[in-house]
Amino acid sequence: MLAWLAALGLALVVALPCAAQSALPPAIELVPGHDDIQLSPYLTWRHDAGAVDDDADAFRRVQAGEFAPLPGGQSEFGFRPGAFWFHARVVNRHDIDSRWILVQQYSLSDYIDLYARYPDGRVLHMASGDHRPFSERSIRDRHPNFLFDLPPGQPVDLLVRVESESSMQVPLALMTQTAFAELARDAQFAIGIYYGILLALFFYNLVLWLMLRDSSYFWYLFHLSAFGMVLFTLNGLGFEYLWPNSPWLADKSVPLSICLALIGMQQFARTFLELKTRFPRGNLVSLGLIGFFLLLGVASLWLPYHTSTPIAARAVLVGVLWIAVAGIVVVRRGYVPARLFMLAWSMFLLGTTMFTLIAFGVLPKTFYTEYGVQIGSALEMLLLSVALGNRYASLRKENERIVGEANQKLERKVAQRTQEVRAALVQLEEAHSRLRDSSRRDGLTGLYNRTYFHDAFEKMLVEGQQARQPVSLLMIDLDHFKGINDRYGHLIGDDCLRFAAQRIGKVLRAHDALLARFGGEEFVVGLSNHDLHDAVEVAESLRRALVESPCSTQGHGIRISASVGVHTVAPGAVDDIDAALEIADRALYAAKANGRDCVKTSITAA
Ligand code: GH3
Ligand code: MG
Ligand code: MG
Repeated sequence: MLAWLAALGLALVVALPCAAQSALPPAIELVPGHDDIQLSPYLTWRHDAGAVDDDADAFRRVQAGEFAPLPGGQSEFGFRPGAFWFHARVVNRHDIDSRWILVQQYSLSDYIDLYARYPDGRVLHMASGDHRPFSERSIRDRHPNFLFDLPPGQPVDLLVRVESESSMQVPLALMTQTAFAELARDAQFAIGIYYGILLALFFYNLVLWLMLRDSSYFWYLFHLSAFGMVLFTLNGLGFEYLWPNSPWLADKSVPLSICLALIGMQQFARTFLELKTRFPRGNLVSLGLIGFFLLLGVASLWLPYHTSTPIAARAVLVGVLWIAVAGIVVVRRGYVPARLFMLAWSMFLLGTTMFTLIAFGVLPKTFYTEYGVQIGSALEMLLLSVALGNRYASLRKENERIVGEANQKLERKVAQRTQEVRAALVQLEEAHSRLRDSSRRDGLTGLYNRTYFHDAFEKMLVEGQQARQPVSLLMIDLDHFKGINDRYGHLIGDDCLRFAAQRIGKVLRAHDALLARFGGEEFVVGLSNHDLHDAVEVAESLRRALVESPCSTQGHGIRISASVGVHTVAPGAVDDIDAALEIADRALYAAKANGRDCVKTSITAA
């Protein structure tokens, strides 16, 4: 910048004295040490609205003083029809460099022609611009350029004619071949870094998209590619590398890539900010914008460039501002990942605004504004990539929380169900044991029944045999029970049966006894480890307990007595249960025969 300003000052000082002598504008002195000169401050210009003049007319008009200095020293005019003519007079004071390059540092001009008139009247004509094949350029470069002779010490009139549907920007520079090479190298380096960052981000996020299949990654890639394409097109690389022989594509690629970038940007913002759920009305606005950009993109294939491009450029501002609004709404609704998104977006907003302002000719095109766009967008893409990672992490955290909660719920439910099943099992077990018990019991007295007694006494016999201990058996039959029934009725008879069972049970509590109702008004008792003597004693106490006091029921006192038959199976005896029962039964008969209310044994019965 400083070198450039110094050159400007020096050139002015040298040029000023000439102005007084000639009607022509002062010549630019190309002095040694200054080999890269921006021409804008020295140019005069004229708008040839009908594009009717040829170079001879233009030279004449220069001579006639019809050319004026650039307004405010700026060479941006916005979208204007017709041809623009620019003039400068140059004197080369270099001894070595006689070949110079005139560079149009804006890539999108359709037609640009250089007419150089030498002191001998010879006029050199060279043509460039993106409506002419790329191969016509003197040097293969994204900027149109003309390599021509400037013989030392001779004043040369340079006339540049530009006609373009794109915005009229004519930042002309005159430089030596060395300066051109150095400048191009610096620019390619900066562009290389920029596309390097974009490519790295592209492939990094491509891998993430392939792995995660999250649609916002896809739209990020789309947005990045389309935006990269916009810049690639605008800085002339698209024409140089992608469609060098297609002026048609060179024209259409600008509005088309802008529309694609706008669609990608809206779609990315929609998915990233989750507008559908977080800001449904905003989602509709975004969809509306996408629809508009789609239509504009298709229409731009037929619309003239100077119509579609200004619309697309304004749409960029609307689209970017809208995303900023949507971002702010979503941030305010508490969506944390949207904060990083907003930071990234503000970079882009700054870059795009600058870019658009340059395109409209509001901001001058300088190194800083031009690369500001690239720096801003590279930072934006980088931050968006970070924001995507951040969003993914927060999604994963949310998922883990949901899964964790679901697991806890499930565990609680399983525990509850297990508890219920366990309780049901306990109830079932209880019911089962009650059932088993009731199948062993006699319904009237609650004593064991005959079936159970049969099994249990058999076991008692076996155990007695094994322990070599005597086992005794008592058969008890209530006396004249039919008479009780006849006299008091069956219900009172039942009471008497229960009374007798209770009395007998009470006496037996002191003994290791097995008591059962054998049937009707008969009871049976098994006594382990009781010999005949012990058994008779037990039988006697039973008999006495029954007659001790009458059964009092429903106002009656009914005397109950019983006859008892006793039999003891001695250790080593071979009696089975049926034999033992039969013998005890016989003793019982003997007791009955003996007048009842008495105890008889198999021995005393004989
Ligand atoms: P014995 O002194 O000779 O034993 O005379 P008994 O009347 O007790 O003998 P018997 O075998 O002739 O009669 C038994 C009676 O017991 C007949 C029946 O009415 C009565 N009995 C049997 N089972 C029940 C019962 O469950 N409830 C009532 N109320 N009476 C019963
Ligand atoms: Mg009987
Ligand atoms: Mg009886």
